[in-house]
Amino acid sequence: MSNQTHSGVGRAAKAAVVRGKGAPFAIEQVQIGPPTANEVLVRIVAVGICHTDAIVRDQYYPFPLPGVLGHEGAGIVEEVGANVTNVVPGDHVVLTYMSCGQCRYCERGEPAYCSDFFMLNVGGARKDGTTGTCDAHGDSLHDHFFGQSSFGTYALAHSRNVIKVAKDVPLEILGPLGCGIQTGAGAILNALQVGVGDSVAVFGVGGVGLSAVMAARAAGAAIIIALDVTPSRLKLALELGATHAVDSGKENPVEAVRRIGGGGVDYSLDTSGKPSVLRQAIDVLGIRGTCGVVGAPPLGTEVSFDINSLMIPGRSIRGICEGDSVATEFIPQLVELYRQGRFPFDRLIKFYEFDDINTAIDDAAKGLTIKPVLRMPVV
Ligand SMILES: [Zn+2]
Ligand SMILES: [Zn+2]
Repeated sequence: MSNQTHSGVGRAAKAAVVRGKGAPFAIEQVQIGPPTANEVLVRIVAVGICHTDAIVRDQYYPFPLPGVLGHEGAGIVEEVGANVTNVVPGDHVVLTYMSCGQCRYCERGEPAYCSDFFMLNVGGARKDGTTGTCDAHGDSLHDHFFGQSSFGTYALAHSRNVIKVAKDVPLEILGPLGCGIQTGAGAILNALQVGVGDSVAVFGVGGVGLSAVMAARAAGAAIIIALDVTPSRLKLALELGATHAVDSGKENPVEAVRRIGGGGVDYSLDTSGKPSVLRQAIDVLGIRGTCGVVGAPPLGTEVSFDINSLMIPGRSIRGICEGDSVATEFIPQLVELYRQGRFPFDRLIKFYEFDDINTAIDDAAKGLTIKPVLRMPVV
């Protein structure tokens, strides 16, 4: 099979396939079908690895296997379907989450809360149930993970989830803007709307938490407290804009945040998904404070808190998906903040070759790497 475009015929590509629950990613030769009328075929240049890739491999969420994951792709448009008008071949694009564009929440500008979000992003197929990827034996693989399945040299995205970006910014760093980085930054800027002089505590400073720290700094927050158990991450948080760092393994995080925040903070963000940490993030709030929830634990995970501790001080708890991002606006905004030096997210990134995908995921799980980005081979 040649690598040239064939209308109606598959294109040879390499992809990282997960064959079963918890199985390692295996680089396989695959065939990617042509884009349908509203789809865009993208040659992936680099793709970030997000915690969600690891937990879906481990089936916290029931994405059907075997399949192709990857949802922080950045690349160059190779081919567009007949109805696509927002990009043309050669454009640089960041791929983001998928939404339907027709439900009540999409219609009112909240696509991160699309009523079909789960099906469109972790359903393992297009909305009509079809897939576009086959393995070397011609057997279908589940794909369209977050509308892209970008752990491959080519990905089929939709016109709704390709975001055109400027060509003068290095494309290979931009993929994580499509999920992890917009999740943290958007939680602060779009959802909680942290402003000048506010106080914020960020629980867990991995890629999402550090993005939140940088966004809080860009927004002019006066007190930005980073909490984690990894000293190297706390050190980086201080370099990226945190005003205080608390090692939760060494001191009581609730007491420390209350002390620093003069009794409590205006905003907290839990990126961990751990019930005990979310409880701490609620307990550190001051009067009228709001806790944002972005961590993703297994389905069914519950947390407890004293109802009075929420009601009497007028506190709020707010679930936030994808940073409330309307990606066509927000991703170019983050690129502009980066260009101005106000959002140096490239400092979170460590590059790996595509073949080293399992090492990259292991390094992230161990806390050695904050945001792994896989460079794709040129095909
Ligand atoms: Zn929708
Ligand atoms: Zn993600």
